Parts: sequence; structure tokens; C-alpha cells
Amino acid sequence: MQKLFKLQVNLIKKIMSLQNTISNLEVRKLIFSTSLIDTQDHWAVGTEWQYAKGTVKMHNEGFSCSCKKKPRKACSHIRNVKLRMYGTFDQYYKDAA
Ligand SMILES: [Zn+2]
Repeated sequence: MQKLFKLQVNLIKKIMSLQNTISNLEVRKLIFSTSLIDTQDHWAVGTEWQYAKGTVKMHNEGFSCSCKKKPRKACSHIRNVKLRMYGTFDQYYKDAA
């Protein structure tokens, strides 16, 4: 009985590390690069922008957002952050949207 329990614990640990690997891969896929901002070694790398439905974060490779699990293109939050970095005010963004 004790042995079986240990086996189960090991199995759960393996599954958990596998899930970590998968989610790391997914996070990498979620990053959208931008041609207008060179995010490599940018001063804002690691900065997070909180929105009601997600958090945008700048990485060396670009921007990510947590609002969608499998986004195919950059969401409105990422676009909003980019526009803010370009120096556009929220009001202009709203008018343009
Ligand atoms: Zn988003």
C-alpha cells in the first residue's frame, strides 16, 4: 500500500513537471514581437500592464497578454500598450478604435 502511494506521488510529480514544460512552451508562443519597438533589452522589459481581462507583459521577444489562452494575433490590450509606448494617449486610441 505504501509503495503504491509512492508510485502515485511520483507519477503526479512527473505530470506536474510535464505541465510546466507545456505551459512554458505556450507562454513562448503567446509573445508577439513588434517592428516599431525594439523590445530586446528595452528598459520596460518585465513591466506588466494590468487590464480588467488580462495582463500585458513586455519580454525581450515582444509582448504577451494573459487574456486569451491561444491567441492567434496580438489582442487589443497589447495594441493599447504599444500605442501608449508610441506616445499615443488613451483618448486617441479610443477614437481610432
Ligand atoms: Zn489581452
